[in-house]
Amino acid sequence: MKKKPNIGAHVRTEGGLVSAIENAERIGAKCFQIFGASPRQWRALFPKEEDVKLFKKLLKEKELGPVFLHASYLVNLASANGDILEKSIKNLSDHLQIASMLGAEGLIFHVGSSRGMEKKKALDQEVSAMKEVLKNVTGSSLIMENTAGGGEKIGSIEDIGYLYGNIKSDRVNICFDTAHALEAGMIESYAPPRIKKLFDEWEEAVGLEHIVAIHANDSKTTYNSNHDRHENIGMGEIGMEGFKDLAKEKRLLDKCWILEVPGYEGNGPDRKNIETLSSCFL
Ligand SMILES: [Zn+2]
Repeated sequence: MKKKPNIGAHVRTEGGLVSAIENAERIGAKCFQIFGASPRQWRALFPKEEDVKLFKKLLKEKELGPVFLHASYLVNLASANGDILEKSIKNLSDHLQIASMLGAEGLIFHVGSSRGMEKKKALDQEVSAMKEVLKNVTGSSLIMENTAGGGEKIGSIEDIGYLYGNIKSDRVNICFDTAHALEAGMIESYAPPRIKKLFDEWEEAVGLEHIVAIHANDSKTTYNSNHDRHENIGMGEIGMEGFKDLAKEKRLLDKCWILEVPGYEGNGPDRKNIETLSSCFL
């Protein structure tokens, strides 16, 4: 039998931090991702100390984890607007602080859009902004996620390699999103030779040990669509064959595979999606 990776999902926290643990257990997620604070507000509310304590206690008892946080959608460290940049640094620092409080593996964030700015300048701004965030908060790590691309979005292997190489911190890692890679035109289809080539490129750019999480999502939109729409595993453009072939890439077996799919009931990742992905490794 083939080894299976740690498979989990993005889960809701509407009922408080502890509800994330219940939600993860209910769908059979071992590792999981949550929003540490609202993903649609600049202001981040910090969790209460007693809730953090209980969360960590239950996590240990139930042998769940690692936990990842996902940053706010508002954050853009490559923004040409100084006000947005400042708010992004503050918000990302707050979310990273929450990640540290929870003992999370890291804070996953989208590397942003350089609209209105020369690419190189935007990348250099992002490097110094990330350094500032890391200086503001100790403990947890920043995890850069590749995006669906398009326009002046940052997020190619080359861009992320540039950021990674210039930040020079052991508190920076990478999250690879399967749907975004297809949508960004990073891989045309998840066929074995293309998968090998893709992860050879990542190895070269950042070193595969620094990819700590895989966002395992099928895509509603086609190759190079630059349009970010997730689909249930096997139901989209990547398809079952694509995930089965990806599951054969042994270099990805030590990563946490986290689902961010719409779910069969439209309530987000569910047991069926986790079981479908898990079956790819048999
Ligand atoms: Zn993602």
